[in-house]
Amino acid sequence: MNTLRGKLVLTYTVVSLIIVVSLSVLFNLSIDKIFEQYAKEQQKKQINEIITQVNQQYLDETGLYNIDGLAIIANAALQNGFMMHIQTINNEIDWDIRQHKAQECQVLLQHAETNMHTRYPNFQGGYAEDTYDLKYSNKLVGYLTVGYYGPYSLDDNELLLIRVLNRTLVLLGTVFLVIAVILGIIMAKRISAPITSVIRTSRRIADGSYGTKASELSSTRETADLIDSINEMSQALAVKEQQKKQITADVAHELRTPLFNLQGHMEAMIDKVLEPSEERLQNCHAEILRLAQIVDQLQELNLLENKHAVLSKDYFDFSDLCASLFSDFEMVAKNNGIQLLKKIQIPALVYGDLYRIKQCMMNLISNAINYTPAGGFVAVEYENGKNKVILHIRDNGYGIPPEDLPHLFERFYRVDKSRSQVSGGMGIGLSITKAIVEAHGGTISVESQIGVGSVFTVSLPDKKTT
Ligand code: ADP
Repeated sequence: MNTLRGKLVLTYTVVSLIIVVSLSVLFNLSIDKIFEQYAKEQQKKQINEIITQVNQQYLDETGLYNIDGLAIIANAALQNGFMMHIQTINNEIDWDIRQHKAQECQVLLQHAETNMHTRYPNFQGGYAEDTYDLKYSNKLVGYLTVGYYGPYSLDDNELLLIRVLNRTLVLLGTVFLVIAVILGIIMAKRISAPITSVIRTSRRIADGSYGTKASELSSTRETADLIDSINEMSQALAVKEQQKKQITADVAHELRTPLFNLQGHMEAMIDKVLEPSEERLQNCHAEILRLAQIVDQLQELNLLENKHAVLSKDYFDFSDLCASLFSDFEMVAKNNGIQLLKKIQIPALVYGDLYRIKQCMMNLISNAINYTPAGGFVAVEYENGKNKVILHIRDNGYGIPPEDLPHLFERFYRVDKSRSQVSGGMGIGLSITKAIVEAHGGTISVESQIGVGSVFTVSLPDKKTT
């Protein structure tokens, strides 16, 4: 399979080759046009010059041309590639350079032809001549015929110039090509290095090394984002893996003690060391119920956290729920010497699963009652916020130490194990509460002070969001 580097270098090379080739074709086409035009203009200019010089050799007194003068002009013209033939109308002068310098004329035509064919192998050229009237005081005195290699020709210097220009172009093209290839290699390296690093990292992640990070840095936004996202994914997987291990360890730890107790009791009764009295059997049954409850709670937490729990959402008035909760907890609170306070009684519409939200509130209220000494109070307050209903469950109980607050919503986390075991808590209640609130798109937070009390604040949506 082709590598990214190979493809980039190839693309750069092909693109620069196309540019260099099309530039040189365009250059050669336009340079030939320019030189053709230039040569034709030069030719016209030089012929006009010859006509002027010839006219100056006309001697009015004799009505003839100065032959010596004509010879000098004709020789000079021959150097420039023109062959002159002058005829007066009275036929007294009929002077043709080809009769005087036949060989030079032949060489001149031959040279022009070789020149033109070296540059343009298919050039259609040959001897050409033009005849001009020679006039003196507006009177026709003779004819000048100028022969040359036509339709036009380039001299040695002009051809040399074209060659030099072409060579410079080839040189520039080569330099351009080399630079393009080097740039291609550099670019490919810059792009492929981070990608290779990400590939290496993802392979290591796939092999189970969660938390491995791609160390490569990139100044290209897309590749920098790619590195960041693989690093974030790796980190998230490491956290998940850690949580998984933690959960397994926690579950084993939490279930071991009650199972061990149960096993001990049952074995003792089977071995007839203990009487299987009704009370003992009922204790064992209670223990089994507690174990079943833990398993149920864990299963529910799993469903909620993995967003598999089906929520049957609808609009309900929180003040109605509050009233029902108060009647549910009335006796428990009274038995614990706690005053239950409902601060505000305004209607507050919530959009959610009534059963689950009731479960949340029951967790929070029963915690507040459990962790508040007799004589204290538990208050439920609520207010309508922007697109949400904000609930506060306040108590003036034992409070929670600041170092425990960040872990409070973790499963099996208990602040004071002895106290919560008395209350029968396993440290799963708040995890479930948080999972339910978040499954509704809400938030939960806690503020607490030792010896002063705690406030749990829950916000729930008051509208259907999707
Ligand atoms: P539990 O079932 O043990 O109550 P939770 O998850 O509901 O488990 O609570 C976790 C821990 O948070 C409790 O063990 C308790 O120590 C602490 N906690 C919860 N609510 C309160 C509160 N209102 N006041 C003081 N401590 C609290």
